Amino acid sequence: MTTSGPEVERRSESPFAIAQTQFETAADRLRLNPSVRAVLREPRRELTVHFPVEMDDGTVAVFTGYRVQHNLSRGPAKGGIRYHPDVTLDEAKALAMWMTWKCAVVRIPYGGAKGAVVCNPKQLSLRELERLTRRYATEISILLGPESDIPAPDLNTNAQTMAWIMDTISMHQGYSVPGVVTGKPIAIGGSEGRQDATGRGLVYCVQEAAKAIKLDLRGARVALQGFGNVGEAAARFLAEAGAQIVAIGDSEGTIYRADGIDLSLARRQRQETGSIVGTPRTERIAKDHLFEVDCDILVPAAIEGQITARNADRIKAKLIAEGANGPTTPEADLILRERGVTIIPDILCNAGGVTVSYFEWVQDREAFFWTLEEINARLRRIMTRAFDDSLRMSREHEVDLRTAAYMLAVGRVAEATLTRGIYP
Ligand code: NAD
Repeated sequence: MTTSGPEVERRSESPFAIAQTQFETAADRLRLNPSVRAVLREPRRELTVHFPVEMDDGTVAVFTGYRVQHNLSRGPAKGGIRYHPDVTLDEAKALAMWMTWKCAVVRIPYGGAKGAVVCNPKQLSLRELERLTRRYATEISILLGPESDIPAPDLNTNAQTMAWIMDTISMHQGYSVPGVVTGKPIAIGGSEGRQDATGRGLVYCVQEAAKAIKLDLRGARVALQGFGNVGEAAARFLAEAGAQIVAIGDSEGTIYRADGIDLSLARRQRQETGSIVGTPRTERIAKDHLFEVDCDILVPAAIEGQITARNADRIKAKLIAEGANGPTTPEADLILRERGVTIIPDILCNAGGVTVSYFEWVQDREAFFWTLEEINARLRRIMTRAFDDSLRMSREHEVDLRTAAYMLAVGRVAEATLTRGIYP
């Protein structure tokens, strides 16, 4: 087997093309064995399903869904399920590959996967969503299982979605199978600490990075994009560590207060109006001005492709902590690297979520549940070790943290793949 060089050079903005380019950069640095390189640059399995759902008005709609498994050498496949009108197979392939690297960076024994259904959940009733979820779970059930493939929530899916999937698979088996999904409600085998895990893990990484670049978190100024699951928790834990959250952006706009936004007021505003815009004692600034705010730390925790060649020059932060998946384009990455900005890459920085998902799966399999204190202590150990491993790699090879984290991850997955060998 050989790698297909020309394909590598054919750049496109497709998420999977970006994921492959990032992989190739690490593979080049590692002088990766060509056979294993050819294996790892493609997903192992891509399942596309078309399935009918009866709508509330009695009509039948046919939906398309995907489940992609990128690599299974280090353990069962793990990755979220996304509901979105624009989601594509290409996006699911990229996200599955990123999950493989994420699990390997934090050394949890999973390979990467991702699932998606092309739908607009805002236009579906709760009953329609339930029927869609149960039928999609049935269609991809040939892949799912605690030993084989374990979904979790992603965009527009949540603990309730996971409960429906768990129940559907359990009905097929004839007994409860809690370990088939993570991110479940606690009542059916979910874990303490899962909700805050990504934001908490991000802040553990920020604490380590701050030590490395000699940035005092007490009084550090933070700008944050996204005030959802990840952004809100990150803001809360950064404030607990003594930082000041001076700007927050969400899909409606951006708010600013030079001497720190009161997070409880921002939470209340979001709860009452759906957005943080209008939070008392803040001023509204232009949406994109978020990236130019005078701050020490920038946390993109909303959607992909937000830090681009257009705004990378104007970013004042010394440290960027990627809560979102893929928030920085490769061009912006280069600009920021040249400017000496430290970026904690997504596959490391937001791995706290999948780490506590792993804890949930372990607890389900043992039917023995841990306290929140145990979970947070274990999460801190894993995130700190992953950050330290990445920092060491970046210093040894004189590369940025993203390349270092990729090198660590790709090296670990390649070793597992090579050690297992080719069947038959
Ligand atoms: P969420 O839906 O809870 O919150 C998203 C936030 O982003 C909201 O405040 C929303 O208003 C804001 N937003 C959306 N579009 C925006 C835009 N165009 N401009 C500015 N703000 C916008 O989502 P989440 O679970 O917090 O996930 C955020 C990101 O983190 C995603 O990229 C996700 O893939 C990634 N991530 C999440 C987890 C997790 O455990 N939830 C784990 C790893 C990675």
